[in-house]
Amino acid sequence: MIRDLLCMTAPVREGFDIPCHEIGPKSHHPAVSLVAGLHGDEINGIFILSRLADFLTSVEAGKYPELRLVRRVLIIPAVNVLGVNIRTRTWPFDKSDINRMFPGSTIGETTQRIACAVLEATKRAEYRIDLHTASADFEEIPQVRLYGPSREEREHSHLFGLAAVMERSLSPVFTTTLMSSWKIWPGESYALRVGQGGTVQLDHCQRVFRALVTFLGRTGILEGVQIAGEDEETCYFDKASAFRVCAEKAGTFVSDSKVGRWVRAGQELGYIYDSFSGNVIEKVVAPVAGLLTGIRRHPLLFEGDLIVRVNRKV
Ligand SMILES: [Zn+2]
Repeated sequence: MIRDLLCMTAPVREGFDIPCHEIGPKSHHPAVSLVAGLHGDEINGIFILSRLADFLTSVEAGKYPELRLVRRVLIIPAVNVLGVNIRTRTWPFDKSDINRMFPGSTIGETTQRIACAVLEATKRAEYRIDLHTASADFEEIPQVRLYGPSREEREHSHLFGLAAVMERSLSPVFTTTLMSSWKIWPGESYALRVGQGGTVQLDHCQRVFRALVTFLGRTGILEGVQIAGEDEETCYFDKASAFRVCAEKAGTFVSDSKVGRWVRAGQELGYIYDSFSGNVIEKVVAPVAGLLTGIRRHPLLFEGDLIVRVNRKV
C-alpha cells in the first residue's frame, strides 16, 4: 500500500507529498524500515528502494508463490522529493540538508517537519536501513556502514552478504542525522553506501537489491528466499584500514579501474594528465595491497583532491 508520509503545501504551486510504501501484514510497527533519497541526487538508493517496493508488493500479491512476506516492511524511497525532481542534494527552497535536520519538529520549517515524519515512521522498527551514495565526483563500493555499532549490528552486518562492512564512530559533530536519531532507539541501524551520486549504476543497484532481499530472508521477514551460496566474502574494515591517495598536482584524472577489485601494492589504478599538453603528470598506484573501495570519477582534479581509497584486510 502506498500512503503519504507527509503532505505539504507550497505558496504558488500545488501541494506535494512524500510517498511511502507499507507492505506485509499489519502491525503497530514495521519490522524493518528502509529510507533513501534524504539527498535528492543519490539516485542509486532511490532506484533500489523503488524496485524493492515493487518486488515486495508483487510478493504480497502472490506473484511469487514460493515467497511469503511475514512481517511489515516500510519503505520511503525518496525523502527529498523536490530535490529528486531538480537533481539537487539539498531541499530546493532553502538549500538545507535534510540529513542535518533530525530529530526534526512538527511545527518547524518544512525540512524539520519532514525529518520528524521520517523519524516517527521508522524509529520503532527492529531493523532500520538508510541508503546513501558518495558524491557525484566519487564512487564507493556498495558497503554496509556501521556507526558506533552494537554487538548485534556488527554480527548482523554480515547478513547482507556485501563485500565490505565499514565501521566508523558515531560523529560527535553531526548529531542531527537520521542515523544519530535512530541510534537512541532499541533495534539495529545500518547505512548502506552505494556507488556515486547523480546516476544509476545498474551493477551496484542489482547487488544491493539482492543484499536487501538476502537480509530480509535471513532475518525471517521474507520467507522462502533461496540464499545463493555465491555470497562474496564479507570483509570488515575499520578506519585505520583505509589508505588514501590524494592528488599532488592538478590535472585530468582518468582510470578504468573498478571498485570492489583486490589490488596489489603499487598496482596502476589510473593516470593524471596535464589538462592542456596531455602529458602524463602522475601515475596513480595502489598505496597498499587491499580492496579498492573508492575512486574519483570526476576527471578534473585540484591539488589535494582524494583520488583513490584502498582498504587493507585486517
Ligand atoms: Zn546521502
